[in-house]
Amino acid sequence: MTSATPAKLIAYFGGTFDPIHYGHLRPVTALADEIGVTRITLMPNNVPPHREQPEATAQQRKRMVELAIAEAPLFSVDDRELQRVTPSYTIDTLETLRGEMGDDQPLAFIIGQDSLLTLHTWHRGRDLLNVCHLLVCARPGYRTTLDTPEQQAWLEAHSAEHAAALHAQPHGLIYLAHTPLVTISATDIRQRRQKGEPCDDLVPPAVLHFMDAHDLYR
Ligand code: ATP
Repeated sequence: MTSATPAKLIAYFGGTFDPIHYGHLRPVTALADEIGVTRITLMPNNVPPHREQPEATAQQRKRMVELAIAEAPLFSVDDRELQRVTPSYTIDTLETLRGEMGDDQPLAFIIGQDSLLTLHTWHRGRDLLNVCHLLVCARPGYRTTLDTPEQQAWLEAHSAEHAAALHAQPHGLIYLAHTPLVTISATDIRQRRQKGEPCDDLVPPAVLHFMDAHDLYR
């Protein structure tokens, strides 16, 4: 690094956000505090290759993200994946971000524990460490160890014990965060809406209002 001031860690959080909920917002807000980042960019994805198509449209999912973060200066939104017509693999987006930021900028991608467990099925999943760190939020109901001894050894070989290391190198570390466990999933929210059950404590009020106004997940 040539600058006298070390670059601040930049963190992105990708997801289908169908819809965005407190299970996204609360752990990631706590994570920012835990590791000392002041900005997290939410990146709604389009046509996720390993998942069924979202129920809400791309524009509706993006709008719900905007509404959810309207009063939270920690967050911003980047809709670059929604602009693409082809499937947006996470590695492609992170390589693009790395190209934009240069080699020295510490860059991280946030995932939940369930995503870490399936990372080996992602397109070039492990290559992510060549361009960013992985920050993993705990999620209730998911194992904290990986499936095979080989996967677990890979995890341990890249694990960062202390958050400070994330700021000191541009990529290559996995950080298992000590974030609060929040038992909320978008699947559950969609099912509750289908059955006409309340979702008041699961999403921000403005998101609930939007879902009602657009009759989403009914
Ligand atoms: P679905 O139920 O439709 O699979 P989801 O609730 O898992 O959706 P996504 O938008 O797919 O939400 O998740 C984006 C990211 O947020 C993923 O990396 C996922 O692991 C993480 N995540 C989602 N919910 C939680 C939660 N309650 N706690 C921690 N991480 C979460």
